[in-house]
Parts: sequence; structure tokens; C-alpha cells
Amino acid sequence: MNLLKQTQFFLPLYSVRINTRTHLRRNSVAFQYKRFLSDNVEVESKSSVEAPLMDLHGRRHDYLRISLTERCNLRCQYCMPAEGVPLSARAALLSRAELARLVRVFAALGVTKLRLTGGEPTVRQDLADIIQELSSVDGISTVAMTSNGVALTRRLPALQRAGLSALNVSLDSLRADRYERMARRPGLQKVLACIDLALQLGFSPVKVNTVLMKGFNDDEVCDFVEFTKHRNVEVRFIEFMPFTGNRWDDSRLVSGAAALAAARAALPTLRPAPPAPCRTATVWKADGYAGSVGFISSMTQPFCSSCNRLRLTADGNLKVCLFGGAEVSLRDAARAGAPDAELAALVRAALRRKLPAHAVGAKPVRARAAEAECFLHVSARLLRLLRDAAVPKGDALSVAQVAGTLAAKRTADLIPMCHPLPLELARVRVQLPRGEAGEAGAGGRVRLTCEARATARTGVEMEALTGCAVAALALYDMCKSVDKHMTITGLRVLRKSGGVGGDWTAPDAPGPHEPHTPHTPHEPREQMPDKAKIETYAPTNFIYL
Ligand code: SAM
Repeated sequence: MNLLKQTQFFLPLYSVRINTRTHLRRNSVAFQYKRFLSDNVEVESKSSVEAPLMDLHGRRHDYLRISLTERCNLRCQYCMPAEGVPLSARAALLSRAELARLVRVFAALGVTKLRLTGGEPTVRQDLADIIQELSSVDGISTVAMTSNGVALTRRLPALQRAGLSALNVSLDSLRADRYERMARRPGLQKVLACIDLALQLGFSPVKVNTVLMKGFNDDEVCDFVEFTKHRNVEVRFIEFMPFTGNRWDDSRLVSGAAALAAARAALPTLRPAPPAPCRTATVWKADGYAGSVGFISSMTQPFCSSCNRLRLTADGNLKVCLFGGAEVSLRDAARAGAPDAELAALVRAALRRKLPAHAVGAKPVRARAAEAECFLHVSARLLRLLRDAAVPKGDALSVAQVAGTLAAKRTADLIPMCHPLPLELARVRVQLPRGEAGEAGAGGRVRLTCEARATARTGVEMEALTGCAVAALALYDMCKSVDKHMTITGLRVLRKSGGVGGDWTAPDAPGPHEPHTPHTPHEPREQMPDKAKIETYAPTNFIYL
């Protein structure tokens, strides 16, 4: 399997492509390397090892996936053509010493986790030595590997002793004939034996990567769920992605949502596991099952906004995105004599060009917006205190705004099936009703709204709703010592735009920037106070993130 190399040739999605190899061939290596540096990198005079590897979108990168080889002992239909892919000359590949040096540079920049992949890493005879060397680099805490498992069983104990700490095994069918048709080679029994040995050796869990394809193995979701019953494996259903010549078309894609629905229909006790930071899969577990199932929706729900990954190809190119065309040859720089600080500067410069989201996916990346509202019913006394900014606990309205804004950004941590989105705007407004409501002693309704915007593949209404709800809860918390009878009502989406289904506005929604209109859909409009009696109150009116 040769996913990295293929994307390099067939997915020129972005205009930025830094082809250092071409430069270097044309002229002297050292000359061109210097020119490359001056064109692309502000070389930092001081060592850049102290600061973590952040990109311009606030993502910290501590995970490096390393392709150890372009060769593979299988020819999976979704990954590689039957005849294989053109291989780089041996001299073009990173030597072990070069690889170890680059890993030391990455580790000094804050990378803690490595994943060895390929091609098929087990075709490297020196795999145990590589693992030993890389796992002893200062700062590296995890050396994981993704393998097809066909030639792994015999070597696994030695690899574990060398420092292999986590294992993913690819397995697309539990039926021998299908396995062979997909991989264009036999091997199911070897892979199953490898998984069982890995469990005995204590890899916990063993992750099983299963690419689902319509009409091929989508009827095996339940069999794979059953596979987790007595084994501590996490079967991860992966959406079929487009790579070189794998004849991708979305009619073959099985969405994570469809796979989850099939799994839940078969096993109603499946429950979502708590979310974990930077996890690509949403994980579900059933009562009494030793293992779990995960859903990696790279196409329908990309996880770009929490992406913490960097990739190094077997020939030493750094890729900051699996689908991005831009590559930087760290090999060329290292061979031209760049010291570690300059390699580090190249890594940082490449990361600065990482886009907020890649452009490959089943849904288009669009500018999306949504606004939500809800109401907090408060007593007349509390309303007066809010107006006078005299709530004993402090500036309740500002606290609500800040809480709502932060919550909108953390929606994916709270709602299991929500993927993290890079919000460009989260704006919470709090509006107090003017006049009689408070003075008549009946109290009134504080209106809270949250507007969210992102350039993403999925809508942002959950972000707007979460921001609104949490702003109301924070206001409640600030005020509960004054009024024990507050209620929160009317949480709803007012409008959303950018979705494939077109823009939408609730029929009775006020205009985007109209002041508080304290009616709900349940109240006849004639009971609404007129606009002159309405007050808009927003202590910190705009919070842009
Ligand atoms: N040879 C190893 C293996 O088979 O696990 C490692 C390399 S392989 C490229 C890494 C993972 O990428 C595998 O789990 C494979 O299923 C996945 N993969 C490859 N092509 C894919 C595609 N078109 N869509 C989704 N996943 C893919």
C-alpha cells in the first residue's frame, strides 16, 4: 500500500508546491538549497526547539507518520494498482541514519508520537533496528505501526521488545475469498493470527483498520462488530478515500453515519465512548463486549480542525496534509548540509502553510454560518440587578458571553458525533428587555444569541446552539443566588447558511441584527411590546475569535 506516494502525484489540490528536487537537480545542491531557504524560510537565528509546533490555525502538531518504504506485499484495490507503483531509486530513500536524525529534529520540536507505515513497513528487514533507534530518541513516547499483518506474526515479539508500543492492523473482510479479491493476494488467516498474537502480547487495544466499500464489504459491519465481542480490538471503519487510480467514486463510499446506523441496528446497546483529544474516530462500545468500534469519517466529516499530524515520505519529503500537494524535501536539505536548526526552520515554515482544511471530501468546503437563540426567564429583582451590573457574583453578562464563545469552540468535545470545526467567528449577544416587564414585578426574559461561522464541510448550527445554551447556563450560574426560579427556554436555530440544502431562516426569526424581540413562536405577536420599549444590552458586543 502506498498511499503517501500516490497522493503526491495525483492530488495536486493546492497551488503551493515546493519541488526542491527539481531545483537541486538543475544546479548545485548547496546553491539551490540556500536559495530555497531564502525563498521559503525565515531562518531563525536562535534554536526553535522551545516552542511547540503550532500552525496558524492553533493546531499543535505532535504526531509524525513515517512511510518507511514505498513497497508493499499486497495490492489492495483501493490503494494500489495491480502492477504496483513506480518505486524511487534506493539512493533517493532516507537512510536509517538520516531518518533517525530527522526524528530527533521533530522530537526537539515537540513531536512525541511516531507511526511507522508505508507501503508495508514489514517489508523492511531492518524494522526492529529502526524501531529500537527511534523509540530511544529523547521525547518520543510512542512508536506505533500500521501494517497489513500478513508478514508480521513471526516478527512481532521482537518488534515489541525493540519498542513498538501500539499496533494497527488493516483488515477489510473476514471472508477469505473477499479478502483475496480486495488485496489481490491471499492472507486472511495470517492477519487473524497476527491480531490474536498482538492481543496475547498485550497490545491494548489492537486497532483494526477496515475500509468500507459499497457492494464489497458493507454487509460485514455486523460481523466486524461481533469480532470485537471477545477481543480487545477497536475495529475502525474508514471511509473510502480518493487516491491514485483507485477509481474512487462516491457511489462506493459508505459513510461513517451509515456504518454506525448498521452497527446500532445490530447491537442496540452500543454507546459512544467519551471523546478524546485529536482522536480521528468516534468510538462506540457495547455492554459486555471486550472491544469497541470506531468510525473514521474522513470524507463526510473531516477532522482537519483538530489535525495534529505531519507526514514524512520514504524519500524524505515532509507533507503537512495527507491531501495537500505541497512537500518540502528534508532529505535534500539534510544532504546539502543543513544543521538541525535549519531543518527545524523548514518544518516550521511548511507548517505555516498548512491550510485550515483540505479540499477533498464528500461534502464541499463552504463558508457556513448559523445563529441560535434562547431565553432566560428572570425575576424583576434580578432584571434590575442585571441592568445595574450589580449582580453580587460579578459581571454576569460578560461571563455569559465569554462562556458561550468558548463553548461554541468546544462543541466537538461535548457532542459525540460533532466533528471539530475551525470557527472563524463565535459571537454571543445578551439582550435585556426594557421597561415594564421588570417594573411591573413580573420579571422578564433575557435573550441570548450565538452566531457561528466557519469555512467547513459541515454546518455550524451545533456550535451556535452550544454557544447559546452554555451562555444561558453561565448566566444562570452567575444569578442563581438572587433568583432560584429562573428557567431557560426556546433554544433553537434562527438561521443557517452555506449548506448544500440552501440557506434557511426560521419563519418568525428577527433580522440578524435586530434588537431583542421578546416573543416566542408560542406567543401571539400582538402581545409583543413595541420596539421603542425594547433595549439591546451587550456589554462586550462582539467577541471575534
Ligand atoms: N501497508 C500498511 C497497511 O496496509 O496497513 C500500511 C499502509 S496503508 C496505506 C495505511 C492505511 O491506509 C491502511 O489501513 C489502509 O486501509 C488505509 N488506506 C489506504 N488506501 C485507502 C483509501 N483509498 N481509503 C481509505 N483508507 C485507505
